[in-house]
Amino acid sequence: MKEIWEKAQEIIRERVGEHFYELWFHPVELVQVKDGQVLLDIPNRFFKEWIEDNYPGLVAEVLKPAAQDGEELKVKYRISEKQDPAAKKMDTLLETRKTRLASRGVYLNPKYIFKNLVVGQSNQFAHAAAIAVSENPGRAYNPLFVYGGTGLGKTHLISAIGNEVVDRFRNFHVFYVTSEQFTNEVVHAVRHGKTEELKAKYRNLDLILIDDVQFIENKTATQEELFHTLNTLYEAQKQIVISSDRPPREIRNVTDRLRSRFNMGLIADVQPPELETKIAIIQKKAEVERIPMPQEVIEFLARKIKSNIRDLEGCLIRLAAHSSLTGAPIDRDMAREILKDIISEDDKPLTVEAVAKAVAEHYGIKLSDMRARKRTKDIAIPRQVAMYLARELTGASLSEIGKIVGGKDHATVIYACKQITEKRNSDENFGRMIEGLLNRLKP
Ligand code: ADP
Ligand code: MG
Repeated sequence: MKEIWEKAQEIIRERVGEHFYELWFHPVELVQVKDGQVLLDIPNRFFKEWIEDNYPGLVAEVLKPAAQDGEELKVKYRISEKQDPAAKKMDTLLETRKTRLASRGVYLNPKYIFKNLVVGQSNQFAHAAAIAVSENPGRAYNPLFVYGGTGLGKTHLISAIGNEVVDRFRNFHVFYVTSEQFTNEVVHAVRHGKTEELKAKYRNLDLILIDDVQFIENKTATQEELFHTLNTLYEAQKQIVISSDRPPREIRNVTDRLRSRFNMGLIADVQPPELETKIAIIQKKAEVERIPMPQEVIEFLARKIKSNIRDLEGCLIRLAAHSSLTGAPIDRDMAREILKDIISEDDKPLTVEAVAKAVAEHYGIKLSDMRARKRTKDIAIPRQVAMYLARELTGASLSEIGKIVGGKDHATVIYACKQITEKRNSDENFGRMIEGLLNRLKP
């Protein structure tokens, strides 16, 4: 048993990186694998929360070798600390909802309900549309197409429609699917000659929730199947809800008729939350998870975390885990110390190094590759982006900038800035991405 877990931990370490491994996976112990079930010992409930939110399926996957003939493993957690009664009650409520959903064949996150969703200026419109749709599925806006950046609450919002409809309409067939899952199903059906079954499954729904539809770019067979599915559902006045990280017009390589299907109902965007909304979201989350959070820490987080709501929640859980491990109450100093890798202090000017690091992370490449004198194509653009952003955001000189990204001279930096400026203006998606990076890095 010990060996299996050690091997699994090695894989996890590689997958999630040293930092998260030490924080979240190292303290976890494997108790047993039995009857298709994995039992893990964890120090407190925040570990379960964090692991499930950030790496769902990972533990089951790395323990697959321990399963009997490739069966799907279920992961259960055993919490070593004494659980407070309120937390227990909450868990029971969630379990009840989970069971109800499962009995109707709906796989939705039971936590993603309207009650847990904070409404602010940034998501007001999308929220109102979602409420209307859940009260009157098939009759209000069809399809409802929600788009916005990552971690801004799209999955939560469309799942809330699903959860609400399950509660309100006892006989409704509700189905949540990511476009990746849908693609896999189409591929599988085609390969095994089961397209009729697939059609029967999807065309008998009362509500379909399709998450992250942008992944169907370039996939012709999937687009074809999706188009016919949506058409059939639409004509039968069944509700369609779609999410995407960009509006329909920016989804590339999608057939015209599918795009126009996306465009036929209501399109609602979700924007990054304003400060007040961020504060309200942290308060809500702290309340739901019963994490004692002083107001000053709430405001500190809301001000410091620029990127998205998922990161905001991640910080909260990290603080809660630390606090319950050490027994120390959460305060500003703890927040500053524990979150120092995410939070940038105002008085520290942004360095070229930090910019390069953020760009490397964004593109999923190594900082060292960006700095090496190599000339590979997949490094060229990130490198230019880094030079451009460093020029925009830091006071560094051209030669300082050039030095950090692989010893380029100042002419190369100027050229890079020109290239990126042009690309920013001519390519909308690219422009949006640069905008996002700028916002994230801006002090
Ligand atoms: P997306 O699908 O847009 O990437 P998610 O729906 O997964 O984002 O949201 C990320 C996390 O932030 C989830 O845990 C979600 O519950 C939370 N969240 C997002 N928006 C809100 C909000 N308005 N109020 C409360 N929690 C939110
Ligand atoms: Mg999502």
